[in-house]
Amino acid sequence: MAETILRTEGLNKTFGGLVAVKDLSFEIKQGLITALIGPNGSGKTTTFNMISGHLKPDAGVIYFDGHRIDKLPPYKIARLGISRTFQNLEIFGHLSVVENVLLAINSRYRVSWWESVLRWPSFFRKEKEALQKALSFLRLLGLEEQAFVPAATLPFGLQRYLEIVRALATEPKLLLLDEAASGLDASEKALLARLIKELKAQGLSILLVEHDINLTMELADEVIVLDQGEKIAQGPPEKIQRDPKVIAVYLGGEE
Ligand code: ADP
Ligand code: MG
Repeated sequence: MAETILRTEGLNKTFGGLVAVKDLSFEIKQGLITALIGPNGSGKTTTFNMISGHLKPDAGVIYFDGHRIDKLPPYKIARLGISRTFQNLEIFGHLSVVENVLLAINSRYRVSWWESVLRWPSFFRKEKEALQKALSFLRLLGLEEQAFVPAATLPFGLQRYLEIVRALATEPKLLLLDEAASGLDASEKALLARLIKELKAQGLSILLVEHDINLTMELADEVIVLDQGEKIAQGPPEKIQRDPKVIAVYLGGEE
């Protein structure tokens, strides 16, 4: 039985009068791909934001890898080993592909002014290692030739991959992917699926929010289903696909 890497207990988040996430408890196992699914507005991104520290829960706790993280700022959570992509791309179009990766490394580790002035060898070694790793992922995606072109000149699908490579540059233990496949065509999705499987094979734990139900069922070891901020089911894909509550939500919803 794989170990638990992330655990939430009784998470709640409201915006004004709207309950976005309600009493949400779940566990994510080390080394597996877990998918968080549910109709639009069911609280998936809000849950991601609470895990990455971009939003604070109104109630509830989050444990990651032996640490309580729900009160920590995003950069500390990133240092503990959680990295994420955003549903809307956060890429610097005028910078080169590789500069985007380096910037992600720096901003997530919050290199201080004096650290960069002193130019500690340990910092450089870390940065170099992360860059090597980033380049190896660029290679896996066939992006190595584009490493030095402005990111804005990449086709949209490749910009999505770049967003993932940026998240990987800090060598996380847990990667959060928010709708990484949205806007991709079938062959781009297939390449994304290959990348995600490769990352899992390398031991990374992955939590993904994905709209494409076929892709989700292909990739996920475990699926958590949200409806109106509440968890209505959790289990392996085969079980989730047969779950009457899940079927009702999807047939009754906009999917
Ligand atoms: P999902 O990612 O599953 O589509 P979200 O977590 O983005 O859902 O949103 C859940 C609910 O919370 C939605 O009704 C959404 O409109 C609302 N919501 C999300 N973020 C905010 C915010 N910053 N301010 C107000 N309402 C929000
Ligand atoms: Mg969302």
